[in-house]
Amino acid sequence: TVGAVAVDTEGNIACATSTGGMLNKMVGRVGDTPCIGSGGYADNNIGAVSTTGHGETIMKVTLARLILFNMEKGQSVEAASDSGLALMKSRVDGLGGVITVDPQGHWAARFSSLQMAWAAAQSDTLHYGLYTGEHFTQNI
Ligand code: ASP
Repeated sequence: TVGAVAVDTEGNIACATSTGGMLNKMVGRVGDTPCIGSGGYADNNIGAVSTTGHGETIMKVTLARLILFNMEKGQSVEAASDSGLALMKSRVDGLGGVITVDPQGHWAARFSSLQMAWAAAQSDTLHYGLYTGEHFTQNI
């Protein structure tokens, strides 16, 4: 997956997600990535999420929208992302990763999969990393 979430200077929020799908996927499979609410979701009033991971389980919990529901209920980007990933694990035994941003530009890169690479640009600062073997790692 290559995913992105962004907030512009006027407060417009967007997400984008691209994937080659799963290895050895069935012919004709439609994964989570093109499904709004699963592979990504953006709402100027709440934030944006882009997801990666096991598409069949991501779709069962509509992971991106689920995380934004958590944020609507008052959770931070980190807590909303972690609780969305935890629900996906407990309900349907799914693993994945997400990048999440809120309208103020707070962001999180969180995952329950074994690793996830991410990068973040804020003004003139670039953060990036590849986290391996840790679940629900902290932001830098
Ligand atoms: N979510 C994608 C899929 O299931 C796989 C990926 O993370 O790229 O198709």
